[in-house]
This record gives sequence, structure tokens and C-alpha cells, in this order.
Amino acid sequence: MNQALYLILAILILILIGVIGLLFVLVFKLLKQQKTSAPSEELNSSIHPDIALRIQEAKFLKKNIKKPSVFCPNHPEEVGETTCAICGKFFCKACLRPFKTMHFCKEHLGLVMSNEWVEVATIKSHTDDAEAGVKLIETKQKWWDKDQLPTYIETHYKINIDQDYIETYLVLFSTKAQLAEVKLKVQDLDITPES
Ligand SMILES: [Zn+2]
Ligand SMILES: [Zn+2]
Repeated sequence: MNQALYLILAILILILIGVIGLLFVLVFKLLKQQKTSAPSEELNSSIHPDIALRIQEAKFLKKNIKKPSVFCPNHPEEVGETTCAICGKFFCKACLRPFKTMHFCKEHLGLVMSNEWVEVATIKSHTDDAEAGVKLIETKQKWWDKDQLPTYIETHYKINIDQDYIETYLVLFSTKAQLAEVKLKVQDLDITPES
């Protein structure tokens, strides 16, 4: 009689363990499903993956670069629209002049127009490795803030249709007169230019 009781007890315990195990599996599955169906990048599935990557990269650069005052230096009541590619200050629309793919404040458009500009270095930028780009942009700003050394960075996107991807290149320009100086400074940065 006692033996039968033990047997029933053992069977009950086994069933209990089985039920608990099953519950664990169910909870685990549910959690996993929630994770994969969470509103993530899936929302952007209509955007080409390379463009999504570009957006991500732009967000990263934006987040990691210290912003100057957002008000126009000439019109303190106006919120700046874009930064001047030379001095990095935000200016309102009225104070900016577009040139090539960039914008310059009136003063620095004059500087750009009255000098010959040459390419110093090109840096390929990736989402995984945007540090070099961030470093170049920050350092370029420091050269200006400290020594009034004028440089600008043009961004190029190379679209490779055959292999279906977009590459981003940051191209640093300096005046021809200051090329040697800027070249040396770039070498001191540890950012391995493309060429
Ligand atoms: Zn400027
Ligand atoms: Zn202004």
C-alpha cells in the first residue's frame, strides 16, 4: 500500500516537473516572439538598406559632433539654419551662401572665392566606423577655433550600382598656400586617409 502511494507521488512530481518545464518553454518562446516583432528597423523596410544606413550614419555624426550656438551671430533672434563650412557657426538663411554642396557665411564665401583650394585627404566613412569622420570634422573645427586655419569638408556619396551600395567620402580641402601645413596636421591625426 505504501509503495503504491510513493509511486503515485513520484508520478505526480514528474508531471509537475514536466508542466513547469513546458511553462518555461512557452514563456521563452513568447519572449522571443515579442523581441522579433518589436517595432524596430522593420518599419523602415520600404527604405533601401543603403539609404537606411546613410540615415543611421548621419544621425551618428550629428549626435557625436559638438554643436555651436544655434542662433545666427548676425541675427541673435534667428535660429541658425546651417553651419558655415569654414567657421562651423550656425547662420540664418539670409546670412548663408550656397557653394558646391556646402554653405558658407558671407565672410567665408569671400575667403573661399579668393583662394585656390586643394584636396588634402579623403576619408571613407562607414556606420560601423564613423570615428574617423567625427574626428576629422571635430579637428577641422579646432584648427579654425585655435589658429583660424581655414579648411572645409565636402561629403561625396559614391553609388555603386553593380554592387548595390553607397559609400561616403569626406574630402578635406585646404587653401593651396596652407596645404603643407594641413597635410602635416592630418598625418598627426591617426585616421588613415584613403589615398
Ligand atoms: Zn563662416
Ligand atoms: Zn543671419
